Amino acid sequence: MSADAPTEYQVAIIGSGPIGLTLANLLGQFGVRALIVEQNVTTVQEPRAVSIDDESLRTMQAAGVVDDVLKLIVPGYGSHYYSPTGLCFAKVEPTGRPYGYPRRNAFRQPVLEQQLKHALARFSHVNALYGWRLDSYEQTDRVTLHLTGPMRENRTIGCDFLVGCDGAASTVREQLRIQLEGTTFDERWLILDLENNENATKHTEVFCDKRRPCITLPGPGRTRRFEFKLLPGEKDEDLLNNATVERLLRAHGADTRSAVRRKVVYRFHARVAPRWSSGCVFLAGDAAHLTPPFAGQGMNSGVRDAHNLAWKLAAVLRRRAGPGLLDTYESERKDHIWQMIRLALRMGKVMSPRTWLSGFITQTAFLALTIWPPARDYVAQMKYKPPPRFHAGFLVPDAKSVRKTLVGRLIPQPTVTTQDGRGVLLDEALGQGFVLLARTAHPLRDFGKLTQPIWDRLGAARVAVLPAGAQTRAVQGVVLVHEIDRALADALIAYQNCALLLRPDHYVAATIPFADPDGAAKAVEALLARTWTEKPGLRTRVNKSPPSPHGEEPRSGVSNHEACAKTPPFMTEPAAWPGAELGST
Ligand SMILES: Cc1cc2nc3c(=O)[nH]c(=O)nc-3n(C[C@H](O)[C@H](O)[C@H](O)COP(=O)(O)OP(=O)(O)OC[C@H]3O[C@@H](n4cnc5c(N)ncnc54)[C@H](O)[C@@H]3O)c2cc1C
Repeated sequence: MSADAPTEYQVAIIGSGPIGLTLANLLGQFGVRALIVEQNVTTVQEPRAVSIDDESLRTMQAAGVVDDVLKLIVPGYGSHYYSPTGLCFAKVEPTGRPYGYPRRNAFRQPVLEQQLKHALARFSHVNALYGWRLDSYEQTDRVTLHLTGPMRENRTIGCDFLVGCDGAASTVREQLRIQLEGTTFDERWLILDLENNENATKHTEVFCDKRRPCITLPGPGRTRRFEFKLLPGEKDEDLLNNATVERLLRAHGADTRSAVRRKVVYRFHARVAPRWSSGCVFLAGDAAHLTPPFAGQGMNSGVRDAHNLAWKLAAVLRRRAGPGLLDTYESERKDHIWQMIRLALRMGKVMSPRTWLSGFITQTAFLALTIWPPARDYVAQMKYKPPPRFHAGFLVPDAKSVRKTLVGRLIPQPTVTTQDGRGVLLDEALGQGFVLLARTAHPLRDFGKLTQPIWDRLGAARVAVLPAGAQTRAVQGVVLVHEIDRALADALIAYQNCALLLRPDHYVAATIPFADPDGAAKAVEALLARTWTEKPGLRTRVNKSPPSPHGEEPRSGVSNHEACAKTPPFMTEPAAWPGAELGST
């Protein structure tokens, strides 16, 4: 970054791992002036995460990078679980694409990080500092960062919000004196990454053998990972020696011509920070939580954090909502994290039975389940994975039961057809802001009822999904798309004659019955008003007061307040930023 580059930002992100980079790209899309700071001179080179899920790919779509990401993944693989006798007792092979992408996909974390880093070059308002370390920071009503560069030079940066995406040993978290809570496993696993491996199967294979639990996972470009559990009493070096590595690989069907690119022993953790923010400082990804890798959810959970936080920071900086909106970040995300950790621990128990008897009982139970199609489907289609949803946060609960309500759930993403006949994923029609979405054959009549001012204050777009066969003329101000399959019809079955208010992350915030749109509008207004209730502590300089109904300037200065006042939609074109450049040191 050049010497005359800005020293003031709306958001500073520490750490250019997958979570910091995803957040930077999302903030870039929202037009937020952001800086990402990374102590290393480049992104990580070592293989780490190998499984990216459908929700993360949807977030990559929102970040505008999914086309590149899809080119370098192996989409849609499953898992086969084997008993010590070699019997396959469970198969996970999900076929659905509820969120627009295959549910499990093999990828390489270093490749994804490179792609995300390069994608930042699109944004003149997002800067990156590689080779710079955050030493300390202090917050008053803003945050001041103290950085050290590669030549031991110092730099001071100011920002409205700081997000620590700086991994398990987070400096940002440490300075908040927040310690992760939970367990550190006694379990250690040897990780072997192979190159030039002719994979015998495209699926993950899990050898649930108490004598030596092992997982082997496919990767793109003829790579494959093998993970072996260390047994009690074994030292790291016992397994890291070449003869042992070769023996283990042979015993588990690895291609003997392949090369070991990396071998390392990891100890896994199940830990969560008790608080994810303090004042204007937030934690995301591994800085906030550590998940054992058995469900392949560590990074994927962090990507969910980034998406949840990005639109909220943008909304607060744009004065669409008050700073209280940011309190919903932790309340929405933390429960889901614990659900994922519990899932990973349960899967760990299946992979790594403690006794012969417990292994036998578990494996027999899985085999018995395959006889009953709904149970088989439950396993094969990964229905055990906690769905993306929350019960409290920025939402207006409706009268439906917890099981039936759509409020707090991620809306499915089917392919739809545009008016000019193109097939697109639904989010392409929804865009990046709030949306009023309805499945209706009468968009003119139904959207004509949604005239309450709150929708414009949120900058909500209107999108109508036309049922198969429905014809209509263009309706001003409403995006029309045609459904191809029943995915949305089925999801909205209990919501006929309703619109849904979708948040920018495509979770349902509220339902709006066409019979009483005023009542629903009042409830959303009250929800929004609550975000302006001042909290003790910080977050005061930004958005101290709600905007007047006439949309006047904030009283005190977010750095882009002039641009905000002139650009009513939630999404604004980022202002060009002279002097900004990407990725230099
Ligand atoms: C063996 C293994 C297998 C895994 N498999 C999976 C999987 O299949 N699927 C999955 O979803 N997850 C998986 N994970 C987890 C996943 O790799 C992590 O959850 C993910 O890397 C976390 O990303 P992050 O951006 O939060 O942190 P990190 O990737 O740790 O990045 C943090 C960055 O912050 C930088 N930093 C730290 N301190 C400072 C500072 N003071 N100043 C400047 N920069 C700083 C670091 O240099 C680093 O680049 C696996 C992990 C391991 C170890």
